[in-house]
Amino acid sequence: MDKIVSVGDLEKYAYCPLSWWLSKQEKKIDSPDGIKAHDEVGDELEDIRKKEVKKVYYNRFVLALAAAASLAAVIGLIFLPGVAPKENKYVFLAFSMLWLLNSAFFLYKAEKISVVILKLRYEKAILLSSMGAILIALIVILSALPPNEDFSKFLEILALIWIVLANIMFYRSINLSEELLIKKMKYVASGDNIAYIGIRKEAPLLESARYGIRGKPDYIIEKDGEYIPVEKKTGRTPKGPLFSHIVQLIAYCMLVEESFGKVEYGILEYDEKKYFINYDENLKSTVIKLREKMIEDMERGVAHRNHYKKGKCLNCSRRDICPERLA
Ligand code: SF4
Repeated sequence: MDKIVSVGDLEKYAYCPLSWWLSKQEKKIDSPDGIKAHDEVGDELEDIRKKEVKKVYYNRFVLALAAAASLAAVIGLIFLPGVAPKENKYVFLAFSMLWLLNSAFFLYKAEKISVVILKLRYEKAILLSSMGAILIALIVILSALPPNEDFSKFLEILALIWIVLANIMFYRSINLSEELLIKKMKYVASGDNIAYIGIRKEAPLLESARYGIRGKPDYIIEKDGEYIPVEKKTGRTPKGPLFSHIVQLIAYCMLVEESFGKVEYGILEYDEKKYFINYDENLKSTVIKLREKMIEDMERGVAHRNHYKKGKCLNCSRRDICPERLA
């Protein structure tokens, strides 16, 4: 497509072609309340995203510290005089062999299975089993060394410090999770992620050369590998979703499908109600046709009212300068 139009313009055109045309000529300043509300949402979503990244780091740190502390504690015990008689090494060797057999079993299953997600799980299990085998082999080697009480005490103290640190981090991680859960509930379900925040100025513009449209949905939710664009509307909550808003949302669905992946529906969120709009072929072709009409009007250099609804004119922000208004 040679001409790319903005989804915002498409929304105005869907409301009334003349409204869109007048908007191109006037220097309209967006309502400060609307800008403030959008900025607040953007800041909140950005805060959620940052905290989620932080939580992942906390969890990894806790896991690494707990594993290191356990290892240090076991090695410390081995070096304690009288704790690791040489016969124990046969027990450890037997465990090591079992562990390796376990890895071989998962390797066999991973080779046979064709479902990608299960294959990945088996591969993770192989990795964990192999790490277990290496750990047991390390213990066998260390248990052959002479006892060393001072080294043993040092390792036990180290393990204690690490486990205390791990607990502190874990406590902070739980607090963060609680905070996140409360904040996220307003926007997404607890298991879903925020994949994109278009409300923020620095967010990249989504563009489709195929459909000839560009724009930024307010935000995008990622749920089980599917993407859901969300458009927030401040101000009056209509009785049902407005046609122009549906057009805008479906255009965003088209952009998100191209840039992110599978889209089944989008969400129109008014202050007092949410609407789930299915992304279907009929609505998609409505958007494509509207865009074509808009390009035609653009080329002709004129656009007119296409409706007889007084209510539309009464709610139209360009009513004062409109030569074709009905009210
Ligand atoms: S006042 Fe009515 S005719 Fe004029 S731009 Fe608005 S909706 Fe269209």
